[in-house]
Amino acid sequence: MIKILVLNSGSSSLKFQLFDMQGAESNHFNLLASGLVERIGETNSSASLKFTSSKAHDTVDKLAQKKQLVRESPVADHQQAIETMAAMLKESGCMVSMEELTGIGHRVVHGGEHFHDPVVIDEQVLITIKKLIPLAPLHNPANLTGIRLTQQKAPGIPQVAVFDTSFHQSMPEQAYIYGLPYALYKKQHVRRYGFHGTSHQYVSKQAADYLGKSISELKLITIHLGNGTSAAAIQYGHSIDTSMGMTPLEGLIMGTRCGDIDPAIPFYLARETGMTIQELDDLLNKESGLKGICGQNDMRTIVEQAEQGDNRAELAITIFCYHIKKYIGAYIATLNGADAIIFTGGIGENSSLIRERACQDLQNLGINIDSQKNSLHSKEIMEIQGPTSQVKILVIPTNEELEIAIQTIKLI
Ligand code: AMP
Repeated sequence: MIKILVLNSGSSSLKFQLFDMQGAESNHFNLLASGLVERIGETNSSASLKFTSSKAHDTVDKLAQKKQLVRESPVADHQQAIETMAAMLKESGCMVSMEELTGIGHRVVHGGEHFHDPVVIDEQVLITIKKLIPLAPLHNPANLTGIRLTQQKAPGIPQVAVFDTSFHQSMPEQAYIYGLPYALYKKQHVRRYGFHGTSHQYVSKQAADYLGKSISELKLITIHLGNGTSAAAIQYGHSIDTSMGMTPLEGLIMGTRCGDIDPAIPFYLARETGMTIQELDDLLNKESGLKGICGQNDMRTIVEQAEQGDNRAELAITIFCYHIKKYIGAYIATLNGADAIIFTGGIGENSSLIRERACQDLQNLGINIDSQKNSLHSKEIMEIQGPTSQVKILVIPTNEELEIAIQTIKLI
């Protein structure tokens, strides 16, 4: 029996899924358990695990009809999150010990120019991922912690790193070279890398399957809206541009990250306030975005507060949606028209309000949303454009973990 554990360690969350597979030749994975530790480091952390002991179930939705464990107690750091995960998997009976795993797949955010493909983790790989921390200060440390802790818990079990940056390596120079001295690209590797590649790739393949077309004939705009947010222009299966840049700070407004701003702002702030580089880094990565505008970074809370008349929460939503809309316009131009726009990620999959407002007043680009269809909730793919929309609008649940499990088993 092949068993793969997939870890997706975010800055304040840990998602994990346990798959099994019948025989190495098959690509059919059964999802045994799916868990989430949320709000790590905050007082209102929670951990939940949906699981089944039957192999007949292969979607989270079906798992939801089965059993669930929930823990509502503070989780101080990622070490505690990993321990919580192992304890809950054991309690569920899905995994008695980490020793029974065939392999462990990790989402790693930044592969720089070093990793163009997934890789089996050894000490050299860990050193390289650590060297790349300056490029992804919120994520690579959490990814490394996850790898090291699972290595300690399951020594000898092969582990694989799947990088968020790989899918965007297909971008042409015009999309990844910045308007900076070219030598900075050659010597310091300053360029756009892009992130969320596993998600953009997964939902674009899902869209092609859903539309009954080959990915090689589709022009797609994929919009991943989670704690981190990014958009990508995907032409015939290849990413040709994406909103995140050399680091995950560029692009759309995010939970705590500023997204696109005038690059002169940090200089101005340093001169005017005496802020240090570290303080500016923290400001732009941890105190900006939705949190900077309205004090909250969780979209559910922001929507609730806006509904209760909080003007700042309303402003944060308006700005968030306006920036998505601008990228839709830009990528329609980049692709010279699009067949479909795809919303995914926690916000993209669940918030009809954000989808509706991001697609508002785009009729002249052939885009309009059907409010009734958009208001529905489903774990399956939803098609939500209006009858006159020339561009399909799809809501597709992302499944980075499944994609990582497939890559992991391929490598080991
Ligand atoms: P992710 O990083 O993909 O897990 O997405 C996390 C984000 O999705 C957080 O900002 C959540 O508040 C947001 N989210 C999850 N469910 C909803 C919902 N029903 N409405 C609005 N935002 C949601």
